[in-house]
Amino acid sequence: MTLHKILAVLGVLSCLSPCMAADASPAAERAAREMRYIASQFPGRLAGAEREFAAAEYLHIQLSSMGYQTQTQAFDTEYSYVFANNVRQRRLLQSRNVVATKPGVSGKVIVIGAHFDTATTLHEVHEGVFGGEQLQGLDDNASGVGVMLALARELADAPVQHTLKFVAFGAKELGLKGSQAYLAQLSATERSQIVLMVNLDSLLTGDVLYFNAGQRTLAANPAAGAARDRALALAASLAIDARSNPGLHPDYPAGTGCCSDQESFDKAGIPVLAVEATNWSLGKGDGYTQTALPDIPGGSSWHRPDIDNLQRLPQLLPGRLEQRAGDSLRILLPLLLEASGARPAP
Ligand SMILES: [Zn+2]
Repeated sequence: MTLHKILAVLGVLSCLSPCMAADASPAAERAAREMRYIASQFPGRLAGAEREFAAAEYLHIQLSSMGYQTQTQAFDTEYSYVFANNVRQRRLLQSRNVVATKPGVSGKVIVIGAHFDTATTLHEVHEGVFGGEQLQGLDDNASGVGVMLALARELADAPVQHTLKFVAFGAKELGLKGSQAYLAQLSATERSQIVLMVNLDSLLTGDVLYFNAGQRTLAANPAAGAARDRALALAASLAIDARSNPGLHPDYPAGTGCCSDQESFDKAGIPVLAVEATNWSLGKGDGYTQTALPDIPGGSSWHRPDIDNLQRLPQLLPGRLEQRAGDSLRILLPLLLEASGARPAP
């Protein structure tokens, strides 16, 4: 497929931001459809729970059907928690990542990742309910997985120079366990081949779409912000309002993100592009307040079964699924075509 065709399919040539749901591109519609499906069919995707395994199976089938070499990578992990009587408990469990590969020829690798598990709540731990079924996790993170699947579909036939790896991470909510397990099973040489990790997490509720670099890699080398800068330039050229963390909180420097699976890669010295929607200008300026919308008390839908679901979020944010999917895809598809060498960078 020519670039012109790809951009036309994505609506780049015909759709100015904000795209309304009515004229969403087929790729954006596909992403939104996957978001709805994952949230509705696999609620309660807690690490180690049956729903997490079922969701992994679904993702495996989807990615294989696009022609990717796909494997499920099981790993043992645990979480610990403290009861009211101050006794620390540990729970051992098995979670899994789904890894889909499109081989390149350069020896370099780009990882595109999104976690598919949902949060384990303290209440469920205290009640002994393992595998609580309430939390749909539409924003966090069916949204990121939906966009990842749409990107995988669009890039399946691209003439990439670098290997692409799409990774759906399990057990993120236990402390980035899936991304840590993924990196742990790579050799030092394999880790050094990864030139960029793009992480997609929580793309809906937040007021603004952000592109951030990694704290450590950026501090060590300003070039680690190249993908972030390219994403912002593409957004500007498409008239999409996308930003970078303004750095209002001292713990979260300007231009860097935090708190999702990209951190594991940043710690390993790999440049990252963290894609998320939130509002870094609200609350403590720490990125934990997603929105000024008064109908979302506290400004956040994270880990809230009453809001982060298909009944409530689309009602509060009409057209948001297709719009955010479209904005993310219109920026990330050209970015990944360039970064993978499928087409020359400008
Ligand atoms: Zn998340």
